[in-house]
Amino acid sequence: MIDVKKIRKDFPILERQVNGYPLVYFDNAATSQTPIQVIDTIVDYYKNYNANIHRGVHSLSQEATDAYEAARQKIQSHFNAAHPYEIIFTSGTTHSINIIASGYCELLKAGDELLVSALEHHSNIVPWQMLCERTGAILKVIPMDEQGVLILDELDKLLSNKTKLVFVNHVSNALGTVNPIAEIIEKTHAVGAEVLVDGAQASPHIQADFQSLNVDYYVTSAHKLCGPTGVGMLYGKQAALEKLPPYQGGGEMIAEVTFEKTTYAGLPHKFEAGTPNISGGIAFGAALDYMNSIGMENIAAYEEKLLVYGTKELMKIPGLKIYGEAVHKTAVISFNVGDIHPYDIGSILDKMGIAVRTGHHCAQPIMDFYKIPGTVRASFSFYNTFEEIDLMVVALNRAITMLQ
Ligand code: PMP
Repeated sequence: MIDVKKIRKDFPILERQVNGYPLVYFDNAATSQTPIQVIDTIVDYYKNYNANIHRGVHSLSQEATDAYEAARQKIQSHFNAAHPYEIIFTSGTTHSINIIASGYCELLKAGDELLVSALEHHSNIVPWQMLCERTGAILKVIPMDEQGVLILDELDKLLSNKTKLVFVNHVSNALGTVNPIAEIIEKTHAVGAEVLVDGAQASPHIQADFQSLNVDYYVTSAHKLCGPTGVGMLYGKQAALEKLPPYQGGGEMIAEVTFEKTTYAGLPHKFEAGTPNISGGIAFGAALDYMNSIGMENIAAYEEKLLVYGTKELMKIPGLKIYGEAVHKTAVISFNVGDIHPYDIGSILDKMGIAVRTGHHCAQPIMDFYKIPGTVRASFSFYNTFEEIDLMVVALNRAITMLQ
């Protein structure tokens, strides 16, 4: 079991007050908080070895390069990728998906089919719609049921030799559903297509094993797992990445440049044009170290308890409806109370120091499915407590009395 009291001391922000109340931070699915170990890593970089990487012979540049490449190896080992060069540093999940979508532009022809799950974040929908407009490829949707669970029988019907790529999140940000990605990967490979898994919501809770999953592409953002914003990763199997053209041209991604012709660098540099977020990449590695020092299984076990407790306590509130009732869920509770607008609830909770997210959570098709404008979403992390859930329930009851 984890020592939450001790862990909370690592997060300076958790000591602050908001509107005169102690902060209760339940917006972890949007971005997680940052422990002092990660903050110190960034400060240490700027104080002691700030320099551009890969190009310098001087000591600072070499130290920065070593730290950046060590972070790449930490990511490789955390997710059990076969090679460090299969990990591409990006600015985050959205950037990673756009790299693949842009590369696929050259691989698709009119009539090819792409399958998207009904549970996706806009960042795993819109780049593919843009791609379909450019190529004439067709986007088809794997539907979900009332519980917020994908209907795999429908996937079986949709898969064919026209399918080129299936994209699905590992965990839904709006509902918390954990998708059966191993099964989806197996079924998709059986028709010769590839799978891209959006792991933005899964990686703070579930340690995916890329090799045993046999996934083609897996993407995530560091800021979801105690790291900084503006950095993330794109994992691709070597063969999968090699067949994609570069995304951006510039420094770092070349082998040789003449005015007649440029040849490109190999992996991972082919996809890493320009000066990256160096301190962010190094801090991404530090965030994984931090999570691993607590233990991913310990984190998941504790968050499951928070989920069960939070669900039980919220269900006691008359008129409260939870959206997303999959058996396999992460600690995300999306809900509405009667016909009160989620924004009104969120604003009143904020007045009492409680941070929840309201709205469509960048997943409008899910909201359309339930015929609602949005939900209130409370998402828990391993540094949250049962007492904080109690505070939210008290505040929520007060908000409902005021609003009804
Ligand atoms: N996919 C999912 C499932 C997400 O939850 C998010 C962040 N809300 C994203 C993609 C986009 O991540 P980013 O904004 O870090 O690129």
